[in-house]
Amino acid sequence: MKFEEVIGQETIVSKLTRSVKEERVSHAQIFAGPPGCGKLAMAIAFARYISCENRQDNDSCGVCRSCVKYKKLMHPDLHFVFPIINKGSGEAVCDNYIEQWREFVNHSPYFNLNGWLAKIGVKNQQGLIYSSEAGEIIKKLSLKTYESEYKVMIIWLPERMHLSTANKLLKMIEEPPDKTLFLLVSEKPDLILPTIMSRCQFIRIPSINREALAKHLKTEHGLDEKKAGITARLSGGNYLRAVEFIEDNEARQSNLNDFIRLMRLAYKRDIPALAEWSEEIAARGRELQKSFLSFSLDQLRENYILNNTGKDKSSELVFLEGEEAAFAKKFNSFINNKNIAGLNTEFSTAWSHIASNGNPKIVFLDLALKVAGLIR
Ligand SMILES: [Zn+2]
Repeated sequence: MKFEEVIGQETIVSKLTRSVKEERVSHAQIFAGPPGCGKLAMAIAFARYISCENRQDNDSCGVCRSCVKYKKLMHPDLHFVFPIINKGSGEAVCDNYIEQWREFVNHSPYFNLNGWLAKIGVKNQQGLIYSSEAGEIIKKLSLKTYESEYKVMIIWLPERMHLSTANKLLKMIEEPPDKTLFLLVSEKPDLILPTIMSRCQFIRIPSINREALAKHLKTEHGLDEKKAGITARLSGGNYLRAVEFIEDNEARQSNLNDFIRLMRLAYKRDIPALAEWSEEIAARGRELQKSFLSFSLDQLRENYILNNTGKDKSSELVFLEGEEAAFAKKFNSFINNKNIAGLNTEFSTAWSHIASNGNPKIVFLDLALKVAGLIR
């Protein structure tokens, strides 16, 4: 992670690079900010900059010995602490998860606690930095540096730290080993021990500004100008949310395509093609199948209302736009008093069957045939 890979946040970057050039890097810093602002990305880029052997004006060089190791997050003087769960076998320490952590962060340093816990296969359990971690921290920092001037310890979500660990960390921050840099990356700094807070330099990282986020969505996610602008605005400068919006949109588009195909084939009563359609849907995961069925129920409702409120497209009851609206314009006349109840029942029943582990091949083939009977 270089500074140039952090989305936006130029002001913070220049503040940090200046502190290095002017040799007044505070040995303990808290990078705090809202979800999806890039605080972890920033901390890693900063650590890499400090450790770079051929620092450029505004970024690390990317090619020196240190940068090469940083790129894989495998520098011997770079240490990570982050919430994990206690599996009950052996000590609950971050090193047990370090490979998964590196892989996850390298994939993208923009994530939240839920994302990380899902990565390590945790459901319904809280991630913590356990008391057993304190010894690890002390051990790692009492080693002399291997290759860099600084040892860097990045602590992600210090607010999830066991009190005894926090107290030991406090001692280390108060009397730091030589050339050690603590970077605490926090989402809820008000939950950090006040005594730690008061000894750290506090760097507030704001939400990503709209222009920078829109630009990133355009270049990295292939959104067009308009969509990038809207997504950046709706997400409030939270990159995680922006990605969610994009994924939602993709899911919606895919559901719409499946819905249109089903309706066309049902209208033509093309049984072999309907069977093929149902096989395709049946091959997907259950959550996707449920999402498609809910989406279809919404579409049927909207089209029925559209058909019944006549050609008054200003009706506030209809919530369709873009391609959905374009399709509905032609399609709505097929959804009427004679078939709406039946269609509604068939899609709702299919939903319940899928939710209660019914055989998707049977459920979707049955649904497709029933729709063919109802649509005209
Ligand atoms: Zn370098």
